[in-house]
Amino acid sequence: MARRKLVAGNWKMNGSRAALAELDAVAAAANAAPQVDVAMAVPFTLIAAAAERVPDLSIGAEDVHERDSGAHTGCVSAGMVKEAGARFTIVGHSERRADQGETSQDAWAKAAAAHRNGLHVILCCGETEAERNAGRAERVVQAQIEKSVPDNADGSWFTLAYEPRWAIGTGRTPTVEEIASIHAIARAKLRMLIGDAADGVRILYGGSVTGDNAATLLAVENVDGALVGGASLTAAKFVPIIEAAAGL
Ligand code: PEP
Repeated sequence: MARRKLVAGNWKMNGSRAALAELDAVAAAANAAPQVDVAMAVPFTLIAAAAERVPDLSIGAEDVHERDSGAHTGCVSAGMVKEAGARFTIVGHSERRADQGETSQDAWAKAAAAHRNGLHVILCCGETEAERNAGRAERVVQAQIEKSVPDNADGSWFTLAYEPRWAIGTGRTPTVEEIASIHAIARAKLRMLIGDAADGVRILYGGSVTGDNAATLLAVENVDGALVGGASLTAAKFVPIIEAAAGL
């Protein structure tokens, strides 16, 4: 099944109102590449301003709470980010798993909350370096998918991102064979969980994607796009990744 490529950025805890100017060129590049979907997750405080500044670009959140409202000081719900202009949210990012102790069960609940509130979901999974060195990468990713993918997931609202933790922000990437192997395993696990709907779910690769390696990584079988951290912070680095996706 042909799946449109998705290039999604993640600003993490970076950015400011001034930095939103970067999005002008990103939106222009997205408009020039109609065969590719482009999205940018930004800090909560910038969602509304970003969505107003570049209405054609899909702006999203980096996380949401699993509940819709209530006594959860400092947390932000899916409905809140939707109202602010977000069209999607990332859930289960490895930095939240490491920094906030989030589990695959939390990612499942957050994905469900996001879907309930009309947001597209990018759900992250990926092994640590120790797990890969111990030969457990496949099993770890399979278990994460099994615990975090909602039963009713389909490509209309759900995207999976394979992000080996040791590749995030390090300049290191797995080999194309390693990426192809995990993506095939992830696709097979999705098929076990959600049946034929798995064919419509995009599986992104994330971890040190740049304009230099994007064409190679995006050509790997079952790689339906990229989730990009550091290289999404400036248009100069992000636009070449969009262009690489468009050239495939
Ligand atoms: C990420 O944080 O999701 C990510 C892939 O980061 P980077 O591109 O900087 O490795």
